[in-house]
Amino acid sequence: MSNDCTYCGSDVYDHDPVFVEEGTGDDREPAGQFCNYACLSAHIDDEGLVTGARCQVDL
Ligand SMILES: [Zn+2]
Repeated sequence: MSNDCTYCGSDVYDHDPVFVEEGTGDDREPAGQFCNYACLSAHIDDEGLVTGARCQVDL
C-alpha cells in the first residue's frame, strides 16, 4: 500500500495522517488514508459519504 493520500495524492507521512477502516463482518478493511482531517473531510464531501447515513437522528 502506498503512502498517497486518498484525496489529494500527497504523502500522508509529510502531514498528520488519519487512517480510515470499514467493518466487514468481524473484519476491518482499509478504506482510505489522508494527510489530516481536512483531506478526510473534503473526501467525505466529494463522495457524499454522509448523505442519509446518520446513525442517530434525534439529538
Ligand atoms: Zn491529502
